[in-house]
Amino acid sequence: MGNNILYIEDNPDNMMLVKRALEARGYILIEAMTGLKGVDTAENHEVDLILLDINLPDIDGYEVARRLRASAKKALAYTPIIAITANALKGDAEKALSAGCDVYMSKPINIRELWARVEAFVPAPDQKA
Ligand code: MN
Repeated sequence: MGNNILYIEDNPDNMMLVKRALEARGYILIEAMTGLKGVDTAENHEVDLILLDINLPDIDGYEVARRLRASAKKALAYTPIIAITANALKGDAEKALSAGCDVYMSKPINIRELWARVEAFVPAPDQKA
């Protein structure tokens, strides 16, 4: 298993925050700023985990998750997807999960929660024995 994490996010501040936090643990962050770019990147690169913003400028995160799960690239049916959204409204978690996401996190992003959720799927490279 590799250390490549794809983050699909249109907000540059969140992108920078997560990039710094994950690179500090030895992960490699791959960036995509739109939903369509995210799907394309996942299909054409080796990706071990996907962080997925729900509010995106083109197709939303739910649609991204559905397309990833239905992709011709079979590995994407099982690649962990962590949904991240600003909408703490009830029902969003269920919607993300039913679209194919494994876990749900709400913004603002808490770095310790992020590390814990990512490490649950992909061990931190800096902490491998
Ligand atoms: Mn967004």
